[in-house]
Amino acid sequence: AKEAGRNQVQFYEAAMNERITERALIEAELRHALARDQLSLVYQPKVDLHSGAITGMEALLRWRHPTLGMVSPARFIGVAEETGLIVGIGSWVLRTACAQARAWQDAGLPPLRVAVNLSARQFQDQRLSDEVQAALEDSGLAPPYLELELTESLMMHNVQAAVGAIESLKRLGIALSIDDFGTGYSSLAYLKQFPVDYLKIDQSFVRDMLTEPKVAAIVRSVIALGHSLGFRIIAEGVETAEQQAYLREQRCDEMQGYYFSRPLAPDAFAAKVTAARVC
Ligand code: C2E
Ligand code: CA
Ligand code: CA
Ligand code: CA
Repeated sequence: AKEAGRNQVQFYEAAMNERITERALIEAELRHALARDQLSLVYQPKVDLHSGAITGMEALLRWRHPTLGMVSPARFIGVAEETGLIVGIGSWVLRTACAQARAWQDAGLPPLRVAVNLSARQFQDQRLSDEVQAALEDSGLAPPYLELELTESLMMHNVQAAVGAIESLKRLGIALSIDDFGTGYSSLAYLKQFPVDYLKIDQSFVRDMLTEPKVAAIVRSVIALGHSLGFRIIAEGVETAEQQAYLREQRCDEMQGYYFSRPLAPDAFAAKVTAARVC
């Protein structure tokens, strides 16, 4: 038993060391990722559940490292936030997404709204609204075609400060949404203080709603109450025709998920939008 215990401890230490090494490696490499041109954005369409039209797209960060290969956001976004690297990376994401959206408009694609994820660090930064304004001006993208996705936890951390920050972003004329809705500890009652446009129902609810009646009840009440408070509702992680049909029946407004499209590299996204237009 003593032997087994010692093995257990060694195993645990090895696992800990591995985690620390992994984190240190990610951190060291992430520092150079931007300068070495390893970051890119992919775009996932958002679709109107009633007309079937593409209404916009979410920009998602991708990191291709020469030896580590593709590193998923789950492995590096947390590190980027803890180290503050997310500030520089996030500002690159914002500028790149705005420039891309404008380039597509110039190329004759129907004008679409591009959504950018915001981390807590960026949200707490006093200069955020100046930075957003600069990204809009430099790219020439009209404000209504930019949407920022904020998470609940990011806003609930300091409600008063969040209301102020959100109001100054809204004054720029951009759209705002609350991401991963239902996973944090906010309530719809709180939300009426925030002048946001969209609620995005978290994918965990969409995944389970057709097998768990209680989850379906949550989805239905978020849609109904959200609508009565004036929000538009987006469901994320829609993977099947049955999920799409259910959400449409419940009068959800828009959806996003593998069922319609995975996130796409810019060229593939443009081709998808063009194809969706002809039929
Ligand atoms: P998120 O904002 O909730 O983004 C949705 C995630 O779900 C994306 O994962 C997307 O690829 C994935 N997804 C979309 N449709 C489906 C589906 O039908 N089924 C399933 N199972 N998954 C689906 P991804 O790209 O790996 O990003 C993970 C998270 O990393 C994002 O979650 C977001 O929190 C963060 N992230 C990604 N890009 C950025 C960025 O530019 N800035 C910041 N701050 N965070 C980002
Ligand atoms: Ca998001
Ligand atoms: Ca989400
Ligand atoms: Ca998420």
